[in-house]
Amino acid sequence: MGVSARLGRPGTTPARILHAMTANLLDYDLEGLAAFCGQLGEKRFRATQLFRWIHQKGATDFDQMTDLAKSLREKLAGAAHIQGLNPVSRHDSADGTIKWLFDVGAGDVIETVFIPEADRGTLCISSQAGCAVGCRFCSTGHQGFSRNLTTAEIIGQLWYAEHFLRKHLGKTERVISNVVMMGMGEPLQNYAQLLPALRMMLDDHGYGLSRRRVTVSTSGVVPMMDRLAQDCPVALAVSLHAPEDELRSNLVPLNKKYPIAELLEACTRYQAAAPRDFITFEYCMLDGVNDQPEHARMLVELMRKHSLQGLACKFNLIPFNPFPASGLKRSDMAQVLAFAKILMDAGIVTTVRKTRGDDIDAACGQLAGDVQDRTGVQQRMATQRQGMLKGIKIVSREVGV
Ligand code: SF4
Repeated sequence: MGVSARLGRPGTTPARILHAMTANLLDYDLEGLAAFCGQLGEKRFRATQLFRWIHQKGATDFDQMTDLAKSLREKLAGAAHIQGLNPVSRHDSADGTIKWLFDVGAGDVIETVFIPEADRGTLCISSQAGCAVGCRFCSTGHQGFSRNLTTAEIIGQLWYAEHFLRKHLGKTERVISNVVMMGMGEPLQNYAQLLPALRMMLDDHGYGLSRRRVTVSTSGVVPMMDRLAQDCPVALAVSLHAPEDELRSNLVPLNKKYPIAELLEACTRYQAAAPRDFITFEYCMLDGVNDQPEHARMLVELMRKHSLQGLACKFNLIPFNPFPASGLKRSDMAQVLAFAKILMDAGIVTTVRKTRGDDIDAACGQLAGDVQDRTGVQQRMATQRQGMLKGIKIVSREVGV
């Protein structure tokens, strides 16, 4: 059974009003912090010290920063603050998964999930409050889009979780070894705020994560994939979910703008710039919709064609997390394994994602969706769904391959 804790909400205090008038240092990567310190007449190495205090030690009070001169601490106190996120609740799964809901104001709530495994600790981070892409199988997509998160709100999830977990688990060393941008939102539709947050994750004075341990997951925003390849080529996961355009456009509406061929060409270009040697394709297994042997065989053909152009990939098959508004069902495990076998027999590395935190609804958007329907989108999507399900060919299942 999961354990849930409802945490306090912040009020409007004089400190919060003062904060609104000064810079939140969680918004700055090291370059930004150096520029900020420059404006205060301070040298770059002061920014490095400050950055380490904030991100490595979790400091929120300038008076804690004892190796900074008192005069600098006073300057900082007048010009800046360090404001993390306000947790609304925490949900602890029996399997060790922890999910937080954070209040980001105006009724918006975002989710962050920590997934511990024997050899790693992965944090799944949100990039937007809601999401405008509207994937049919995604609980967040059904809630609509509210706003982009700030850099401070993106990195604030890692900052909060890392320092909470160290205390909670009684550790002094780093707990979170991997970050995946797979929470609420399409990260590449919030690129300007995302990029400094990614740089903070990689910075040796910040979290010191290697590029291969930070994954951006995208539904296929092609121009921004090209930007990311140049600016900060972390690991890339692409939500594919279908082997042909008609079905993909139904499941991932962004496909109408950037169809599969364009998306895979962008993946090939990304790979040329990224140090990682393959792209991960995420494929949510939907019963009778995209989980048939013919879909697997089409994927094999698609990947053969693009591997000739240099694309190396692996597939991650994701059991669908059903939610009532979707009208879709999870493929059974026999179907998932049969699908995986076709891919693997064709030489494609394929994994099946373990479900974690089922007792706390750890899949993206499932708790925040209980909090609110941001823009009445659930109502609109209920209407659209009727048309969408007409557009999807739901077939009877073949068993065994
Ligand atoms: S799967 Fe990702 S891109 Fe699609 S609606 Fe959900 S959060 Fe947005």
